[in-house]
Amino acid sequence: MEGVLIHIRARKISARQTTRKGRDVLDLMERMKRQSKLTKRAVLWAMGGLIFLSVAFTPVAPSMVLVIDAGHGGSDPGNLGTGRYKATEKTVTLDVALLLRDYISERFPDVEIVMTRDGDTYPKIRERVKLANNINADLFISIHCDAFTSPNAVGSSSFVMGMDRSKESLRVSMQENAFISREQDYETFYEGFKPDDPDTYIALSLRQSIFLQQSLELGSLIQTQFKQRVGRKDRGVRQAGYYVTCFTQMPSVLVELGFLTNPTEEEFLNSNSGQELMASALLRAFRTYKEKYHPAPESRRETPAIELLPEEKTALPSPTFRVQIMTAGLPLKEDDARLQGLPSAVEYLRNGLYKYAVGNCAKSAEANALKVQMQKQGFSDAFVVKFEGTSFESQGVKPVRKN
Ligand SMILES: [Zn+2]
Repeated sequence: MEGVLIHIRARKISARQTTRKGRDVLDLMERMKRQSKLTKRAVLWAMGGLIFLSVAFTPVAPSMVLVIDAGHGGSDPGNLGTGRYKATEKTVTLDVALLLRDYISERFPDVEIVMTRDGDTYPKIRERVKLANNINADLFISIHCDAFTSPNAVGSSSFVMGMDRSKESLRVSMQENAFISREQDYETFYEGFKPDDPDTYIALSLRQSIFLQQSLELGSLIQTQFKQRVGRKDRGVRQAGYYVTCFTQMPSVLVELGFLTNPTEEEFLNSNSGQELMASALLRAFRTYKEKYHPAPESRRETPAIELLPEEKTALPSPTFRVQIMTAGLPLKEDDARLQGLPSAVEYLRNGLYKYAVGNCAKSAEANALKVQMQKQGFSDAFVVKFEGTSFESQGVKPVRKN
């Protein structure tokens, strides 16, 4: 090995070989030398700012992409309910969709949420589907409200793509698909899609079948939440030929929050507290689904581990109207069966008795509607009580449980 010389040739870089960028930096420094100290400082601050911005806003890939679809909108009002409210289905679906968006984005920074609409517009049904497919969304939730000829029909249901030819599934899918035929160029774009023709589903089931299990799972989580935590009548998870759930290439659920043709349910779904409760229920179902299928990396876990209370959102309205439902000599336990499905229940002590009330209504009319609902649920002596103050503490009440 002796005598071996290692030549390290220094590479000379001529002025001509310096890159354009390098020359620019040299030029800038040259100019800075000639400039006042103040200007130099400004340039340095700007450069520092740029570095800071690029660090702070380095994009991190989301754990999942969720599309929230508020049904109907713009020229399509959806169902008109009983006709007592100016708001039709399109308004209620948007209100709940926006609440759900806010609840999820506050708690899951790792979820990218895309809305098919966030105002009173009507994106064509096929465009909503195309949007979700084009961005490779991981989940599609479409929010609707039901309607029926009889005012007695009541309850919430979830629908996934399927070939169920039951009367109920056909009724709902024809109702929800109805507006498609009013879209421009309907014949060209929806050719072959016949909601009441089983052949349509045989072709489509091949596409959606790989997502069916997950869609059913989310549907059942949603129904459990509606029933157990918001006290809604459970109409179950069904399969139906909705265009949106059939053509999206990802797990998809279409939710019917309740019947706007049922006066009590219409009042509930038009009230702030009703909408908050329904959006909270959707949030909790989504959370369980996400933890299983799209968990966040350890470092990006949801910050507060507390479950959502609608009241967390804002200060309580003053006055707050609630519906008193029960009185007891001793405080009830948190898991008392009588408090199940009453997430907004509060407890307060009056004249040596423990009293329980539900609802956080800003308007007495809302509380009256809730009172009627609670009476139907078996609290026959329910009545409305008014509380002053904008916090639980100042109102002298305490929430029965965290959720
Ligand atoms: Zn609808």
